[in-house]
Parts: sequence; C-alpha cells; structure tokens
Amino acid sequence: MRRKEDHVTENRENTFDRICVLVHLDRIRENMKAMKESLPKGTKLIGVVKADGYGCGAGETARAIEPYASGFAAATADEALSLRREGVVKPILVLGSVCSERFYELLAADIRPVIFEEETAAVFSRIAAEAGIRGKVHLAVDTGMSRIGFQPGKKALEAIGRISRMERIEIEGIFTHFARADEIDKRWAKEQFEAFRTFADSVSKLLEEAEPGRKKLFCHCLNSAGIVDFHRMPEGSEMDGARAGIAMYGLYPSDEVDHSRIRLLPAMEFKSRITYIKEILPGTSVSYGGTFTAERPMRIATVSAGYADGYPRGASGKGEVLIRGKRARILGRVCMDQLMADVTDIPEAEKWDEVTLVGRDGQEEITMEELAKASGGFHYELPCLIGKRVPRIYTWGNEGQNSSI
Ligand SMILES: *Cc1c(COP(=O)(O)O)cnc(C)c1O
Repeated sequence: MRRKEDHVTENRENTFDRICVLVHLDRIRENMKAMKESLPKGTKLIGVVKADGYGCGAGETARAIEPYASGFAAATADEALSLRREGVVKPILVLGSVCSERFYELLAADIRPVIFEEETAAVFSRIAAEAGIRGKVHLAVDTGMSRIGFQPGKKALEAIGRISRMERIEIEGIFTHFARADEIDKRWAKEQFEAFRTFADSVSKLLEEAEPGRKKLFCHCLNSAGIVDFHRMPEGSEMDGARAGIAMYGLYPSDEVDHSRIRLLPAMEFKSRITYIKEILPGTSVSYGGTFTAERPMRIATVSAGYADGYPRGASGKGEVLIRGKRARILGRVCMDQLMADVTDIPEAEKWDEVTLVGRDGQEEITMEELAKASGGFHYELPCLIGKRVPRIYTWGNEGQNSSI
C-alpha cells in the first residue's frame, strides 16, 4: 500500500479544464468508520469497490477505507486483479460469477471467487491442484434474489459436502444478498435472513464434522441498506461481516432507510465549466430538436458537460445546475459533450465559471438523488456511468468545497 500522502500529491491538481469528479476520500473513510462503529464490536466490514469504486476509483477508495475494512469485494475478475495491481494486499472477493478460464489468474493473485455450482468448484479444484495452490472460495446462497447462488436445501448441502472434499479448495465464507432490505418493511429481509442462517448453520456443521477444528466459516449477508437500517434488521444479522457499498460513498440506499442514525457524507462532486455565454432573442430555440424556445430575451451559458461524460440525457429541459451558488435550469436537450443552462437571473455568471452538476456551491446543493429524480434515473447508476474521460480529482480535506478548486 502506498501511503495516502504520496497518493494525494501525485493526484491532486487543484484545477480542471472542462469537467471533473471531485472525490472526497476523507468522507469515504468517515462513512466507513461510522458504519463500523454502528455495528456490534468485532463485526468485519468488506468494502465493495466494484464498478471502479462506484465511479470514485477502486484503488483510491480501497486505500482510503483500509483501516476499517477486513477485505474488499469486486464484481469481476478484471476488477479484482486490478486492485491487486494497485497494491491492495487484503483479501479480495469477486461477487459475480467468473468464467473458469480466469481461475488460474485469480488463484495466483489469492483472489476468492464465488462458487454456487459443483461443476465449477471441480474445475477450480483441478486448476488449483495443477498449480499447487490452495484456493479459497465463498459460497453464494440464493435466498430471494434469484440471481446467483445455491438454492438452500438437501441437494445443495450434499453438493457442498462434495466440494469440501475436493482437492485444494478451502470454503472460507458463505453469503447471501438481500433483494428488499432498503424497504421500510423488513418482512422480506427477515425471511431471507432466516433462510440463510438456517442453511449457513447446516453448512458450518457439515464442514466442522468433516474437519474438526477448522477455521470458522465466515458468514455475511448485510449490504448498505442492512447496515444503515441495522436497528430494524433481525437480531444477529451482522453475522461475521457485512458488505458496505453505496453507503461508503455517502449515498443512502433508498428514501425509506433511516437517514438519521448514521450520518453519511456524499463522497462525489461532479463539476464542469461555462465555456460560452450569449444573449438570445425571443423565438430562438436551444439545442437539438428545438424542444426549448425562448419567449423573452435570455442569457444562456454553454457548459462543457454532456451524456458522454455521464451526465444523464434524461435531465434535458428538467435538471438544474449550480452557478455562483444559484440554481440554473438546463434548456433543451443535453448533448453528447455540452449542455445549455439559463443564466438570465445570474448576471454575474462569466465564461470559465465553475458549474456544479452534483455537489455543493455556497448554500445550494444538488444531490445525486435529485439528479436521479430529474433524469428518471437511479442514484446508484449515475456515479457508475460517469465516463472514463472525466478526470477524478482526489482530496482529503475541505479544499475544493464551494468554488475554490
Ligand atoms: C453490489 C453488492 C453489494 C453492495 O450493495 P450496496 O447496496 O451498494 O451496499 C453487496 N453484495 C453484493 C453481492 C453485491 O452485488
């Protein structure tokens, strides 16, 4: 692991030319700390850094939360391998299914795949045996997502018994994933938890009988919603560890979860610039398709942000941005690389002014949730869609808040 100070000096340029994502690593760390402290002592936290750390940067996020994370989770083999290349040494779990052609790479990098089929386990075991490496795996259990995982029951238990006897495989963990823990009504989460606990207990018993004194099976089920709403979840649901995703990045999983028990700080701000300002006459249309036509003289700012940067086209004509601490409405359609905003009532706005697409400017704030609502999108989705051409600027302090970057 590189020291965080090295990392900051390497990456921080307090400026950007057309667009940037400002990532507050201090807030990611604070969010993780707050979650850790809110759970029963000894509960481990797995930092979910898939989708390049929900758009914030997987390696940077992993380094920021390292003191509070017992390990990390990625979605794909490539994401996991790239974390290792970035110097992450703690355990890494791949949450999605991985094609067996990638097993050797995972084994060589000590990365845990998820197993939920006996045949896949057999292939993994064969490759591990050939390489002379003992491979750790986590078993996925499907208790209500109908996505991946063993269906709890006798057949699955028998298959797991056979897997446990395969060469060079160590069943390190077992987990399930909630479909509806972000709802106020925890009925479904409770059902899933009970089904998982019963099955995980049988698996633990089976493994301990086969190998007395073995390391305790690591059981995990909570996601961000379960952590944030832990006080509403069934007793014991912390199990051995919890998987923290969206909440680490400062977003609440839904409107229905408790927003007051754990204070989350949004990690990401999305900033752009005014590249041109002009006045238009009544009757002038703005952007593709002429969906907006001025009815009075207006002052219009062209902003260097578009859907190719990940700014949602669904915000056309509806979304707002912040300029000089004031709200400016988007006029007409969002283009691939640019959009237009109404600065008629912001006479102080000038070319090269900072434009806040998401984040804070003075007293005003546009949240990811607001942009999701305005664009008909989803607040989990927007940060993942912010494009590769948008530079990430990392900060550990309050510099960059307001208009100072
Ligand atoms: C994405 C994911 C998580 C994290 O979910 P959040 O809602 O972001 O906390 C946890 N577990 C699994 C299996 C996932 O796929």
